[in-house]
Amino acid sequence: MRLVFLGPPGSGKGTQSKRLVEHFKITHLSTGDMLRAVMTQDTEIGRAAAQSMATGWLVADALVVTLVKERLREPDVQAGFLLDGFPRTVEQARAFEEHLTETHRPLSGVLELRVPLEDLVTRLAGRGRKDDTPEIVRERQGIYRQKTQPLVDFYRQRKLLFPIDGLGTSDEVFDRIVETVQGLKP
Ligand code: AMP
Repeated sequence: MRLVFLGPPGSGKGTQSKRLVEHFKITHLSTGDMLRAVMTQDTEIGRAAAQSMATGWLVADALVVTLVKERLREPDVQAGFLLDGFPRTVEQARAFEEHLTETHRPLSGVLELRVPLEDLVTRLAGRGRKDDTPEIVRERQGIYRQKTQPLVDFYRQRKLLFPIDGLGTSDEVFDRIVETVQGLKP
């Protein structure tokens, strides 16, 4: 199972991702986690990661694409993965698609967690992460709408898009996701 998980900041994507990978025994790949892990390094990617966390801006496409491609070579992803937070731009999606075609491992599906904007703001307020200050949250929401939302059409055109209603309890949402994933071709 090779999955991409789309959803705006505050949609519950991070929490659902963790439950999902446990349930389906696949590897969780979060570019946000990968970037947080390198942000103290004095390297190009480390400096870019530190800047992105401080501002909410996206790390350059080429850097993130390289990070993901390298990660996809590791043995633990061969049995399947869930990408959480990548791709985030159409450019990343195109580069990723090319890579998956070259390595003969097409995506099983793209899950899109849908939550209305007003609910996102309340949820983020209760999360308490370092990059959750009101300014950075607004910045990240704006960037999501502008850069990441177009991926919904990108994947819909490829018949890979599976929208999921993100309202309700965590268990209710999780059940919907599991049902959707069970209907996909591995
Ligand atoms: P996340 O944990 O997914 O919310 O990511 C935290 C921050 O890392 C984001 O606000 C971005 O600045 C950066 N980031 C994560 N994934 C990507 C990506 N695919 N492309 C560019 N920047 C990213």
